[in-house]
Amino acid sequence: MTETNHTELSEKKRLNFVEEIVWEDLKNGKNGGKLQTRFPPEPNGYLHIGHAKAICMDFGIAEKYGGECNLRLDDTNPVKEDTEYVEAIKEDIQWLGFKWGHIYHASDYFQQLWDFAVKLIKAGKAYIDEQTSEEIAAQKGTPTQPGTPSPYRDRPVEENLALFDKMNSGEAEEGSMVLRAKIDMASPNMHFRDPIMYRIINKEHHRTGNKWKAYPMYDFAHGQSDFFEGVTHSICTLEFVPHRPLYDYFIDELKDGKDLDDNRPRQIEFNRLNLTYTVMSKRKLLALVKEGLVNGWDDPRMPTLCGFRRRGYSPESIRKFIDMIGYTKFDALNDFAMLEAAAREDLNARAIRVSAVLNPVKLVITNYPEDKVEMLEAVNNPENEADGAHTIEFSRELWIERDDFMENAPKKYFRLTPGGEVRLKNAYIVKCTGCKKDEAGNVEEIYCEYDPESKSGMPGADRKVKGTLHWVSRAHCLQAEVRLYDRLFNVENPSVDERDFRELLNPDSLRVLENCFVEKFAATKKPQDYLQFQRIGYFTMDKDSTPAHLVFNRTVGLKDTWGKKNK
Ligand code: ATP
Ligand code: MG
Repeated sequence: MTETNHTELSEKKRLNFVEEIVWEDLKNGKNGGKLQTRFPPEPNGYLHIGHAKAICMDFGIAEKYGGECNLRLDDTNPVKEDTEYVEAIKEDIQWLGFKWGHIYHASDYFQQLWDFAVKLIKAGKAYIDEQTSEEIAAQKGTPTQPGTPSPYRDRPVEENLALFDKMNSGEAEEGSMVLRAKIDMASPNMHFRDPIMYRIINKEHHRTGNKWKAYPMYDFAHGQSDFFEGVTHSICTLEFVPHRPLYDYFIDELKDGKDLDDNRPRQIEFNRLNLTYTVMSKRKLLALVKEGLVNGWDDPRMPTLCGFRRRGYSPESIRKFIDMIGYTKFDALNDFAMLEAAAREDLNARAIRVSAVLNPVKLVITNYPEDKVEMLEAVNNPENEADGAHTIEFSRELWIERDDFMENAPKKYFRLTPGGEVRLKNAYIVKCTGCKKDEAGNVEEIYCEYDPESKSGMPGADRKVKGTLHWVSRAHCLQAEVRLYDRLFNVENPSVDERDFRELLNPDSLRVLENCFVEKFAATKKPQDYLQFQRIGYFTMDKDSTPAHLVFNRTVGLKDTWGKKNK
């Protein structure tokens, strides 16, 4: 990085403590002025919105300070990993708008890690333990009580080397032995009490096949992978704070005591994103998918990025939300309503306005000619003139929302009521003359008369009425299914609830309305085109939609009704 660059950057506002650290390191010329980060997901599930927070940090900081961020697939456990997840991870990162420098895999370092483990064995710093995992756990001690050394702790180097080979050759059974670092069974940091470096897993790896049977643990793979790649700042979440001394320990060993301060990855931790009314654990999300409790990883109720995408969230709204919550050193529970507010703000600027009636009732304009059809102009997006306009058919018989009519309305009811006037959006002012009801008293048809001089946009048609209703023309609209989503869980923080998370699911998280009507223009859109159903909310077409059976998802309502419901 050049002098001028530094000066320019110093002018930029640094948003959080991680940026402060990175900025200081760059200013001090650490690592030769280089900035390299990585985003290291394990390909054992789809990315969720928590990952988006890490992505915005890892990629965002590299972008802002002239560095590079790589994607590293942390694929050290073949039991749960799959290429399906790898592809999904790439798609989600790109969708959020980020570009990686390189794609790396922890599995590319299996040989290097093996060689390093052999080196530690030879130096008397690692040994094969043949106890069961229960025995090992029982000897760990507590933070205030030292652990008990394993009976295998002092076994000769040659024996360790021979057994380590057996761990990988298939001669040793899964669970029969592990390789442990010989560090300090009395350390106040539990991670130093002879942590496990390798275990045996007899399962084909999606990249390395059957070459390996001994697989490195997270703590023996992550820091070294950072080091091999030249990562300068290894940014992760707070639960890794107690792992940091071990991270540094293995890197010290790798560097053989040389050049300790420069060109070594520095681990920095920030707080995780936790969202109300949902869970972030991949294990639980996988269970929801596998047990059919949701309809796949991209079910619009899921907190996965593909779920939000399918539901109609823009990547910008997710990034805006992450900016709003910021990065700190304290764990918190973030309010889902805040994410929705970010989405509303973003979609308001983007969404194309269309008309749709979700709970229809027939409106007949009795003084409008029977076979007349007018093509009216509807502005696509009042927030952006460049989005233009489209036309919508108007005729004698329309659908309007059942809720927009009330026979005996209170005084301040500004929608349709006998004797009252409203404007039909982009069309005319109509006056209600009555309605027809069935035997049970349900309104079947509403009647009104229109004022031909009140057409929107016509000179002299600016007569004001209090209410404006949306509508679609009965003969020109299309039937559609509309899916309304609510919170996936009934409790604010399912992760800390004692009950099984399945019991906490909201049984009403999906409501399907089969008999909705949309204007034709809405059907020309595709999934992830952002729509506003006027006066209702933001919507997008679902991937299940076909021309013969239209399906739309509600992304978020126009107003925060959830907050109100709970008050
Ligand atoms: P799980 O434990 O559910 O499998 P994970 O945290 O292990 O999830 P990884 O794929 O290992 O998932 O995570 C990749 C990166 O994303 C890590 O750097 C991790 O710290 C970060 N990350 C994961 N969840 C969150 C979250 N809720 N908020 C912020 N960052 C997160
Ligand atoms: Mg992980």
